[in-house]
Amino acid sequence: MRVYNFSAGPAMLPLDALNVAQSELTDWKNSGMSVLEVSHRGKDFVACAAETESLLREVVGIPQNYKVLFLQGGATGQFDAIPLNLTAAGDKVNFFNTGQWSVKAIKAAKAQGLEVDVIVDRAESKYTDTPAADSFVVDPEAAYLHYTPNETIGGVEFGYVPETGQVPLVADFSSTILSRPLDVSPYSMIYAGAQKNMGPSGLCVAIVREDLLGKARPGTPTIWNYTAMAEADSMLNTPPTFGIYLLGLILKWVKDAGGLEAMGERNRAKAEALYGYIDASDYYSNPVALDSRSWMNVPFLQANSELDKAFVAEANSAGLTNLAGHRSVGGMRASIYNAMPLEGVTALIDFMTDFERRNG
Ligand SMILES: *Cc1c(COP(=O)(O)O)cnc(C)c1O
Repeated sequence: MRVYNFSAGPAMLPLDALNVAQSELTDWKNSGMSVLEVSHRGKDFVACAAETESLLREVVGIPQNYKVLFLQGGATGQFDAIPLNLTAAGDKVNFFNTGQWSVKAIKAAKAQGLEVDVIVDRAESKYTDTPAADSFVVDPEAAYLHYTPNETIGGVEFGYVPETGQVPLVADFSSTILSRPLDVSPYSMIYAGAQKNMGPSGLCVAIVREDLLGKARPGTPTIWNYTAMAEADSMLNTPPTFGIYLLGLILKWVKDAGGLEAMGERNRAKAEALYGYIDASDYYSNPVALDSRSWMNVPFLQANSELDKAFVAEANSAGLTNLAGHRSVGGMRASIYNAMPLEGVTALIDFMTDFERRNG
């Protein structure tokens, strides 16, 4: 039996893609082996990785002057790798701090000896909003501006792309990539851990504009050197083969469902249903500013927070799993990534209504 899994990550994946993976698992392409067991340098796997890349390019619309890299070490690895690849020690960089993933990226940049200027800091709102598009000034000397378009923990998402002039824009898209149409061209680099909307953990996808390559600091670990990785087609060492394969199946699912336009429509409908219900309720609430609400991660509180454990446990028994809020925020959080159908959101709303009727 499948449940509606509201986990923030690793998260629910599309059943169609999992079913294909299951059907092929023990005998992939008539090889008598699973994809987990074949050489990453064999022609079948090389073709599989090339197909995943070309599907990603097609589905997202990645311009030709960007490299696609399949990396390991998660998005967290990139918090260190970005400074190593794009800056010299002592360089200035600008950051937005809109939540806990921003905080971690900032900490890593400081540890790499950068002069970090946090030009937007939403700690003062307890990370419940994004800055107005005209409320910040990017330092023209900065090596880049880094921000987190969707803060997975706070459930805060930007409704616009920050304007940075000539300063490269770098973004951690871990929890929003593939959720709606994406114009890559304003970005110098986009990266995302796969385990939210793209597949299993262990794979991190980076999309890097070519003119940023060739600047890695001496001593950068080779597996995190974008230039070395690009030259080796991400196969400098053994890549996360299963993750690359499964990402390909998920991209096919996205494409067959109508691509990112269709994903965006589905996700908008899901988010509108859930926020609409919460806003109309006297018992449940969401703390995030209206223009900054995430389509992917919806934190919510109930009037009687002493019942949070009961809510999560009873929801779990009803087949609605992983609804506990992040330990730093409390309450509940429903992550409604691409694979969550509208029926899952409707089932959650029905459960919330029933829970309030019994306890409110
Ligand atoms: C999950 C997440 C990360 C961390 O990803 P790892 O793969 O665990 O390193 C970083 N940033 C954001 C926005 C995330 O949602």
